[in-house]
Amino acid sequence: MSLFNEPPKKSLGQHFLHERGVIDKIILAIDPRPGDRIVEIGPGQGALTLPLLARHGALTAIEFDRDLLLPLAAAASDVGQLTLVSADALNVDLTVLADGEPMRLVGNLPYNVSSPILFHALDHAAAIRDMHFMLQKEVVDRMAATPGSKVYGRLSVMLQAYCRVTPLFMVPPGAFRPPPKVDSAVVRLVPRAPEEIGIADRARFAAIVRAAFGQRRKTLRNALHDVADTTMIQAAGIDAGLRAEQVDVAGFVRLANLPAA
Ligand code: SAM
Repeated sequence: MSLFNEPPKKSLGQHFLHERGVIDKIILAIDPRPGDRIVEIGPGQGALTLPLLARHGALTAIEFDRDLLLPLAAAASDVGQLTLVSADALNVDLTVLADGEPMRLVGNLPYNVSSPILFHALDHAAAIRDMHFMLQKEVVDRMAATPGSKVYGRLSVMLQAYCRVTPLFMVPPGAFRPPPKVDSAVVRLVPRAPEEIGIADRARFAAIVRAAFGQRRKTLRNALHDVADTTMIQAAGIDAGLRAEQVDVAGFVRLANLPAA
């Protein structure tokens, strides 16, 4: 008999993985090594947690749904050392949790809060060695998109500025219970070193990217007019008549690094 008696909660994006082949592929992609500090977001009923624990011996998992904590702890008790954090992942200070040992963050993320979780992880990128996430395929496409693509936007620029983004493989709805309405995909994010990122002021960079894509049909001259004037856009080597979707990540970094007028 299953230890998990509660029906899946739609409001928490609960689509539990059940297909062994997909679970094995994700663990192979993570490739846990001795000594790795692995932290999972949203362990659910343990589809990834238990095999990871069996292979790695110890891990920490952050789960919002309190109904899952006791059955999960019971399921893990004979498998390895599972430390459960009962919290909304958005409120967890990942830097404190890492405790000086860059963590490997993994998770089949709740799709309704996947972008906020990605941005939260970016805020703690210095404490993270890498991330392996299952997300809606459409979100992974946006994360990895290049300039000129229809789906290149704020998420692409912000993530690629701070991380190397590698889509790994697609997962069909049938791999989950209940099946979601959309395809999913697994992606790897590896935070870049600060000198490679080269952003002088993170808040200014974020403000420029937000403004540029806030009105993506407009030219940069118009979209950015509250945050950067035409002279600045040109000084960054960017044609002010372009739209945001035509500018690469390095262009946004150059623009954000110019002294404000
Ligand atoms: N890892 C499990 C699997 O693959 O079957 C469950 C994945 S399910 C898509 C997402 C999980 O994230 C659920 O267990 C849900 O309760 C949990 N969750 C939802 N919102 C959360 C949040 N803000 N912080 C932490 N966990 C959350």
